[in-house]
Amino acid sequence: MKSDIEIARAASMKPVTEIAAKLDIPGEALQQYGPYKAKVAAPFIGSLKDRKDGGLVLVTAVNPTPAGEGKTTTTVGLGDALNRIGKKAAICIREPSLGPCFGMKGGAAGGGMAQVVPMEDINLHFTGDFHAITSAHNLLAAMIDNHIYWGNALEIDQRRVVWRRVLDMNDRALRSIVSSLGGVANGFPSEAGFDITVASEVMAILCLATDLADLQKRLGDIIVAYRRDKSAVTCRDIKADGAMTVLLKEAMQPNLVQTLENNPAFIHGGPFANIAHGCNSVIATKTALKLADYVVTEAGFGADLGAEKFFDIKCRKAGLKPKAVVIVATIRALKYNGGVKKDALTEENVAALKKGCVNLGRHIKNVRQFGVTAVVAINHFTSDTDAEVATVQAYAEELGAEAIVCRHWADGSAGTEDLARRVVEIVDSGTAQFAPLYKDHLSLFEKIETVAKRIYRADEVMADQSVRDQLKAWEAAGFGDLPVCMAKTQYSFSTDPTLLGAPEHHSVAVREVRLSAGAGFVVAICGSIMTMPGLPRVPAAEGIGLGPDGEIEGLF
Ligand code: ADP
Ligand code: MG
Repeated sequence: MKSDIEIARAASMKPVTEIAAKLDIPGEALQQYGPYKAKVAAPFIGSLKDRKDGGLVLVTAVNPTPAGEGKTTTTVGLGDALNRIGKKAAICIREPSLGPCFGMKGGAAGGGMAQVVPMEDINLHFTGDFHAITSAHNLLAAMIDNHIYWGNALEIDQRRVVWRRVLDMNDRALRSIVSSLGGVANGFPSEAGFDITVASEVMAILCLATDLADLQKRLGDIIVAYRRDKSAVTCRDIKADGAMTVLLKEAMQPNLVQTLENNPAFIHGGPFANIAHGCNSVIATKTALKLADYVVTEAGFGADLGAEKFFDIKCRKAGLKPKAVVIVATIRALKYNGGVKKDALTEENVAALKKGCVNLGRHIKNVRQFGVTAVVAINHFTSDTDAEVATVQAYAEELGAEAIVCRHWADGSAGTEDLARRVVEIVDSGTAQFAPLYKDHLSLFEKIETVAKRIYRADEVMADQSVRDQLKAWEAAGFGDLPVCMAKTQYSFSTDPTLLGAPEHHSVAVREVRLSAGAGFVVAICGSIMTMPGLPRVPAAEGIGLGPDGEIEGLF
């Protein structure tokens, strides 16, 4: 099998106008970035509002393991397979961050015969959205410091500025810095720091905003600092919300590209899946639903984090009603959950696989709590044996679910027709009765407890009095109706990344809580969460360069 980049480069792409035509998007409604990338213009999106929505399908997965699961790959494969069986279908995924490209994760444009293209562009710069988000974020940072420099009329407590700076690069040197050194003309020295752009609240806001007016309102609501009396200072107080909206105007329009099989793919926004909600933009998903009969979208990490936030944050806020869920599982990941070490995953091991299936089982049961039927996609690897596949299928059947073998990575859409047919059946059955896990009016702590007990199956949530008091203070300040955004390890249902399978009777300790008042959620931090990654000892960047023919080499 060729590498992802070799396959992507050999793709026969069609002009983006032809891809748009498949969704009846007229040429005038496209803002093109070269022949293969375009933004769908805001006025056209506005004109769709009275159309009926297609069926929304979420792709999520078992807990991530070093073996890799393939959610994006499966999202692309399923989208292509739906088109193959004659349906009008589109996919919606997140935009990749530059940081991991040069670190070690690899691309975020799918893999094998199920990819979106042009993949180099998508992974590098793309249409400049991350640049716009970075600029808008840092404009606010500069205006806060400038406000203090010119006399601090808002009486900001300089020790309580909570708005950091961002950069779309893995750069651990910038995690904690001292700013404004060098003399009186440079302001007041203070502790500062950088996060990666995907961790910016501006990113989360862009992904949850429904239009430019909503975007500006949410930007205005961002809390940037506190006064000595602990009252909040917002972005609106700094008067940055208007200029930030101007910087984000183009970035708010969803990007359209194509899959290897020339089917439409929206790629827009990419918030972190820990301190934010980890889904592509609401505007892309809503636009796709107006244009296609079936829309397949992906949420980050495993279903305990990704699907829960998709349902409880994105769908709750945007009024989306998902009709079916696909849980991606790999035989390798399930064996890993059954105790097999990373280097032995390609050997057949039915006993360990049986043991590890409990991880899948819990995700199936969890998804049902949201009123949506889940089907399991076994993302097939060449090392999977028939006995192993049969084991997972039998296990799913015991739970009243179905596990379907998918070979999109090797065979493209032809390998995933069975899953596509089943997904159509579930969506068209009209049986989905989506409801978020908890109601808006529960207290913030009760919301955290609900997720911890019903999704993670913890016995208790532990938190210091200071954390509980902070939550109460936010409730008193009018933020009690917000959903919670859980930030914990993606590797386990618990907060201990080494507890694989389906751990029970654990406790979840909430270390810290943060208010994202603009995005509209309260982040509960359980464990140590990194918002500025570092590069590995040998970063991927060392092997990346331009070849003699001017083509990019060493990227994935
Ligand atoms: P996720 O979205 O869950 O993070 P991706 O779909 O991005 O995962 O896949 C991660 C990596 O695994 C990609 O490099 C992809 O090429 C590879 N991959 C996915 N499915 C398969 C498969 N069936 N066989 C081999 N490699 C695969
Ligand atoms: Mg992915």
